[in-house]
Amino acid sequence: MSLPSIKRVLLKLSGEVLMGGQQFGIDPEFVSELAKEVKAAKETGLEICLVIGGGNIFRGMAGAAKGMDRAQADYMGMLATVMNALAMQNALEQLGVQTRVQSAIEMDKVCEPVIRRRAERHLEKGRVVIFAAGVGAPYFTTDSGAALRAAEMRCDALLKGTSVDGVYDSDPKYNPAATRFDTVTYDKVLADNLKVMDASAVALCRDNKIPIVVFSIREKGNLARVLAGEGVQTIVQDS
Ligand code: UDP
Repeated sequence: MSLPSIKRVLLKLSGEVLMGGQQFGIDPEFVSELAKEVKAAKETGLEICLVIGGGNIFRGMAGAAKGMDRAQADYMGMLATVMNALAMQNALEQLGVQTRVQSAIEMDKVCEPVIRRRAERHLEKGRVVIFAAGVGAPYFTTDSGAALRAAEMRCDALLKGTSVDGVYDSDPKYNPAATRFDTVTYDKVLADNLKVMDASAVALCRDNKIPIVVFSIREKGNLARVLAGEGVQTIVQDS
């Protein structure tokens, strides 16, 4: 099964892919490689919204597990996503791709606030819009932020570029017999608690009929292959 033709996508990158080969933080060389993939995708005529996680820097749950107040830790996580957004903005603009960062937590010295109609205008003008700080509220993740922005920007698909090459029936790290789905329904993902995105993000995509494409962004050229309907991926959609 392949995707219907897509004109506008929301690309969600996990923060951890920005680490490249490092254990923490941002590897500017690898971010530059990712930016080349985004540029190539844009040159095919796509309109691109980007959401980047913050897990390479800070996750609220990890802070809470060590005794921090969860909401406070989540705000730190959201700030981490803004740093990642600025790193990606820098890499894209060094390649000549025009971008705007819009943050759900306002910080007018470094980026715009999220304003949907302004984001529309940016896309019309050929800019990549990077949405930072998730939904702007604690107890959420950037997956939910990605689903929300995909819905409000009326994206044709949510592409989740991560470290694994799709959705498996069990964790391939621990089960060598785990099998990858080519396609799977939203309801199965939710019922079986499959590791795709958090449940609220999956439900939002289901309710708005936004297909989710899970693929590995670590392999060079994979984003282009996935957009061409080739390569290894899992598509989550209604049957
Ligand atoms: N976060 C949040 N609300 C949001 C988005 C993110 O509180 O709407 C916080 C949360 O603590 C999360 C952290 O930001 O753990 C980093 O985001 P995420 O874990 O989604 O990053 P990823 O796993 O994609 O790198």
